[in-house]
Amino acid sequence: MSNAVKNFNNVFPVAEHVDKARAVFCNRDLKFENLKSIGFDMDYTLARYRQEALDALSVELTLERLVEHCGYPEEIKEIQTQPAFAIRGLVIDKVLGNIIKLDSHRHVGKGYHGLKELTRSQRFEYRNVSIRLNSEERFALVDTLFALPEAYLYAAIVDFLEVHPEVKVGFVQLYDDIRFAIDMAHRDGSIKKRIMADVGKYIVADPELAITLHKLRSSRKKIFLLTNSYATYTEKVMTFLLDGILADYPSWKHYFDIIITAAHKPGFFTKNEPFLEVNAEEEIVNEDVRSFERGVMYQGGNVVEFERLAKVHGESICYIGDHIYGDIVRSKKTSAWRTVMIVQEMEDELRLAGVLRDELSIVQELERELLRVTSELAFDKSLDGEGNEDRSKERKSCRDRLKRHRKKLVDRLESAESLFESKFNPFWGLIFKLGNENTLFGAQVEDYACLYTSGVSNFLYYSPNHYFRSPRQLMPHERF
Ligand code: IMP
Ligand code: MG
Repeated sequence: MSNAVKNFNNVFPVAEHVDKARAVFCNRDLKFENLKSIGFDMDYTLARYRQEALDALSVELTLERLVEHCGYPEEIKEIQTQPAFAIRGLVIDKVLGNIIKLDSHRHVGKGYHGLKELTRSQRFEYRNVSIRLNSEERFALVDTLFALPEAYLYAAIVDFLEVHPEVKVGFVQLYDDIRFAIDMAHRDGSIKKRIMADVGKYIVADPELAITLHKLRSSRKKIFLLTNSYATYTEKVMTFLLDGILADYPSWKHYFDIIITAAHKPGFFTKNEPFLEVNAEEEIVNEDVRSFERGVMYQGGNVVEFERLAKVHGESICYIGDHIYGDIVRSKKTSAWRTVMIVQEMEDELRLAGVLRDELSIVQELERELLRVTSELAFDKSLDGEGNEDRSKERKSCRDRLKRHRKKLVDRLESAESLFESKFNPFWGLIFKLGNENTLFGAQVEDYACLYTSGVSNFLYYSPNHYFRSPRQLMPHERF
């Protein structure tokens, strides 16, 4: 073990002192001691992208393809996009051309048509719509950070179409064209080519990543990489992240017992593709993989064969990824793997929430007062018809006063809430919250991820055998 590593271990921080923005949060108890293997997704998990740079690149290449392959006019290349516009968890309504934010009950709490916010009555139109996200016909979920440019390009081009009625494209077609164009930019290698030419411009070199992986390895767990990226790109990104950092690990491959590229998640968890051995040029060098060798890159594969060859099974495996569907929901539904969701946006949100603690208490105080006044009014109503006429008059004027007070409270709460939320994202607020409800995205993280945190290197602040315990879950009647 190198001295750098030894010294680091001596001053190893303990969990109680973890900064909240770097903490690991627990939905479901997980004893790291019981894990035999920990797997990592690469993009947006081990590799944290510089969102603005990647967004700009994705927009540029998508617009190019919309013009060249889908027949959009050259002028769309001049569209001013709003990189801060989109957040994860939004839903695109392809029929109405809207983007909406839902709470966990699928109630639409916020929305935009183009870059214009939906009015309350426009939002109310969704009250009788069943928002089914597994039918891809009408609704599309923005479920990865790769998809943010899709969302704000959609909004920007909806606005563009409104002032260019001569461009005859419907809202459904527009979504399909953007999806096609951005997918093409990923698949034809043009996004990756530009990233590989200047990795540091697009990916953050996390100084704590190497030591974190070392820490987890030192507890004798099998560490594996399972990414949808192909071998050449994986090699380039992982070299950038890990090569030459710790003396004991000259190459990134030394950190991993098993390396799987082009895994085609979620298909990896549901289909039956074979593993192939590939080299860094993505040439297949062995089609008959009978065991996993260290330092070798594989491609494809499936979860059943993985467990057989890796000799680890079910809930002794924990997989850490950032894609709520491909990495977390799918693995949870079809295997017994434990899961950790990486939500990199949380780090900034939690830091800001710390700074805005006073604003949040104002909102919470108003919520409590509103609850109190609402129940007082309900109680008062239940007394209707009781007592003499004078008493009734007195009560009526008291009730009118309470109603006026409630109306003022609702207005104050709405403006305090929107002021508070606008400090996070001026268009959408927080990713996990919509008013006092959890967002749909928050609910998915809560339901499917055993743990969630803002980055892989946050595990550095915990023992590799840490027992993550979820706080006692309280139903509303228990909080009373
Ligand atoms: P992972 O997160 O490491 O599993 O890798 C995700 C991979 O999916 C990366 O190589 C991305 O470039 C790629 N990707 C992201 N969005 C798209 C898309 O829309 N079409 C095709 N590939 C994509
Ligand atoms: Mg990923």
